[in-house]
Amino acid sequence: MAHYFIVGQGIAGTVLAYTLLRRGHVVHIADNNASQTASKVAAGLFNPITGYRMTKTWLADLLFPFLHRFYPEMERYLGARFFYPLPMYRPFESVAQQNEVLSEISDEKFAKYVEKVVPSDGYGRHIYDPFGGIILQQCGYVDLPVLLTAAKSVWKAQGIYRECEVSESEIYCTNEKVYWQDLSVDYIIYCRGWKETASSLFHLPFRPVKGEILQVRFTNECYDEIINRSCWILPHPDKTYRVGATYHQHDLSPTPSAQGWDELTGKLSKLTSAQWALLGRLAGIRPATYDRRPFIGIHPQQPRIGIFNGLGAKGVSLAPYFATVFAEFLEGKTKQLPLEVAIERCIKV
Ligand SMILES: Cc1cc2nc3c(=O)[nH]c(=O)nc-3n(C[C@H](O)[C@H](O)[C@H](O)COP(=O)(O)OP(=O)(O)OC[C@H]3O[C@@H](n4cnc5c(N)ncnc54)[C@H](O)[C@@H]3O)c2cc1C
Repeated sequence: MAHYFIVGQGIAGTVLAYTLLRRGHVVHIADNNASQTASKVAAGLFNPITGYRMTKTWLADLLFPFLHRFYPEMERYLGARFFYPLPMYRPFESVAQQNEVLSEISDEKFAKYVEKVVPSDGYGRHIYDPFGGIILQQCGYVDLPVLLTAAKSVWKAQGIYRECEVSESEIYCTNEKVYWQDLSVDYIIYCRGWKETASSLFHLPFRPVKGEILQVRFTNECYDEIINRSCWILPHPDKTYRVGATYHQHDLSPTPSAQGWDELTGKLSKLTSAQWALLGRLAGIRPATYDRRPFIGIHPQQPRIGIFNGLGAKGVSLAPYFATVFAEFLEGKTKQLPLEVAIERCIKV
């Protein structure tokens, strides 16, 4: 059993803390309660088939069965509901895409993700689908604000959660221990999301990406499934919907923009003719990386300092599996992290 201090309670820090606690370790966690963090504004979607070509996402066959077990277990542990498996309708954009995708999905390796093929104009409910589309399964979303609030409340009650800024200058490390305020732990793990870029501790090649989302209510329509073509419509149980998301690298301001509004409303009007009313707008910065793979590992010169970050646009599907991979590494059960996610791939050792 080891003693950990986790800095940052976004999805990365929360899932890692939960994983370590469940494995019998002692964990303390601190977060500065910033508003509009990536995890607080994210839609929380998980979707094994992505992109224009509808290809299987990286490690889908490993990550998706894992997350479908992981989040329901976490719901039971936290006593809260936040895991919503939902089908996803993906209308085709063109005849060319229809042909391409239909020939791909006849392949056996896609069969478990495809529920059915929808014919031209077959979905109804104000959706433009002149080329038909496919309904995917094993998709859904995690209501991250509910998950984060539940974890914070349980861990506050257990006395292992602190709401405060943790400054690197307050940390004292030896080769055996890390000290911060009254804590003395075996490892400190930084899970600071894109704020890691303000630190010179790890020098990792992040590529932060801003995202924006609309919160809307449809006034003459109801959707029970996620609809996704160029932008997605995500139904919540209270009959409100999230519409998103934009993906821009150059503007890292934390507020919604005119460009984001034009992009999302333009894409939405091409997806559905249903009428909607705006309830709110959100913006956040994704901790994306130069090669779209997470940054996980222990500092090359400081053996008690770790990082679990770089979850990019896929925090919900990457965090559960890679938290376990990292935990096994920290416990010495594996000697090497997979090179695709290990920080050694991009920092000088
Ligand atoms: C608009 C938008 C839509 C998205 N949609 C999806 C989606 O549908 N599906 C999906 O999987 N992903 C989505 N993402 C990406 C997802 O949000 C990220 O992958 C994920 O939230 C990253 O989590 P994190 O914990 O690494 O970072 P963060 O969420 O940024 O968490 C870091 C935490 O650390 C805290 N912190 C930082 N520095 C300190 C400090 N010094 N002391 C104390 N606390 C500190 C911060 O306040 C924050 O709470 C979306 C992102 C955006 C912006």
